[in-house]
Amino acid sequence: MKADIVIVGGGASGLIAAIEAKKLCPSAKVVIAERLDRIGRKILATGNGRCNLSNMLLNGKHYHGSVNAMDIIGKTPSAADYFEEFGVLCVSDSEGRVYPHSNSAATVLNALRLRTAALDINELCGYELKSYEKNKNGYILRSAAGDELSCKRVIIAAGGYAAPSFGTDGGVLRMLKEKGYKLAKICPAVAPLRVRQETMKGLKGIRVKGRISAVCGERILKEEMGEIQFTENSVSGICVFNLAYLFQNYEGRLALHADIAPDMDEKRIMEYLSMIRKSRAESALEELLTGMFVKNLAVYITKRVLKRPLTDKISTVSDSEIKALARKVKCLEFEISGCSSWQNAQSTCGGIHVDCVDERLESRLEKGVYLCGEILDTDGDCGGFNLQWAWSSGMWAGRSCAASLKGERV
Ligand SMILES: Cc1cc2nc3c(=O)[nH]c(=O)nc-3n(C[C@H](O)[C@H](O)[C@H](O)COP(=O)(O)OP(=O)(O)OC[C@H]3O[C@@H](n4cnc5c(N)ncnc54)[C@H](O)[C@@H]3O)c2cc1C
Repeated sequence: MKADIVIVGGGASGLIAAIEAKKLCPSAKVVIAERLDRIGRKILATGNGRCNLSNMLLNGKHYHGSVNAMDIIGKTPSAADYFEEFGVLCVSDSEGRVYPHSNSAATVLNALRLRTAALDINELCGYELKSYEKNKNGYILRSAAGDELSCKRVIIAAGGYAAPSFGTDGGVLRMLKEKGYKLAKICPAVAPLRVRQETMKGLKGIRVKGRISAVCGERILKEEMGEIQFTENSVSGICVFNLAYLFQNYEGRLALHADIAPDMDEKRIMEYLSMIRKSRAESALEELLTGMFVKNLAVYITKRVLKRPLTDKISTVSDSEIKALARKVKCLEFEISGCSSWQNAQSTCGGIHVDCVDERLESRLEKGVYLCGEILDTDGDCGGFNLQWAWSSGMWAGRSCAASLKGERV
């Protein structure tokens, strides 16, 4: 098959890249080559099926990596404006998260499909790119099944390693590395963090609101507020998801400190516990914190601080023990033993380094090859930031690519 532009990957960035390229260059034959049997499968799973497609509070502090996401986002319309143009009405919540008015990710994918059909963009599903090389007219792409596709320009929008069940197993990143592309170290982003199982004993299933800090030695790297969730061997919740990317640079040195009573200072907690010492004097120690936390969490903290039988009476608790308990409530420590599996991650930290692309997202190694989306070394926080990057970088790569086909520059 011959095409003018082939987009590798029919995900969020690839679909928008195809639409923008075709809009700018209507006579071009544009083909989306997608590994899975359908395009846009991951989009349907986003935002728990609601598709948190952007955020009203877009700024650089929500993005991490060598690629400056805001440089590209600043040059493109917001996702809410862009999608409204093709019929998707959007609404935002109190935290700035933008969703389709229908509250359904299917609305977003459907609108994208209507637009690709109207523009006569070709979909080639079941095509898994295995290799490509330059020839005199452009590029020859080869699939895992040996099918060849020739084209003048290529846009690589094949995603990263996160959520491999949606077609993204990092295969294209490995291929590009072999071709000499520089890769920033990868790790799961927007993901839980693993903790040694013995420190988690008794915490499984507990959710608590608090402030969570990522710490390296004495240094606080980042703080987040929100609901902290505990599993058998990991700490989870959106606030933890937003810290996961730090594993890339702090592997082996990262700890989490959870303040599970952020609205109270240590003094206030001590006053409260002193009052409990009187009012529940005859009760067992395991009841010391049950007025403040759910039972399992209350027992967990008391056990970790007071190394004595919890059947002892509350009246026996000393002032120094009350102080130690208050300290623990303000700082529950967890050493990070690993990152999550790719199955549990929503994004990829790391990827193709900014040194490999110019300001138009064209490869500096191979003229006529463009890159967009998660494959590039930038990842955003939870809350619509990753999809906004996918849309914006897709728009920009699509426009740059089509302009170069016409002998122009964006
Ligand atoms: C469960 C889940 C929920 C999420 N929720 C949100 C959310 O609400 N808001 C948000 O901002 N972000 C969310 N994200 C993140 C967001 O979905 C991604 O950042 C975004 O989809 C990345 O877009 P992309 O186009 O770069 O890659 P992808 O969407 O991953 O698309 C890449 C495409 O390339 C295809 N492909 C891969 N290899 C090949 C190959 N060799 N040949 C051909 N095709 C190939 C894949 O099959 C896939 O279709 C979520 C992610 C997950 C997993």
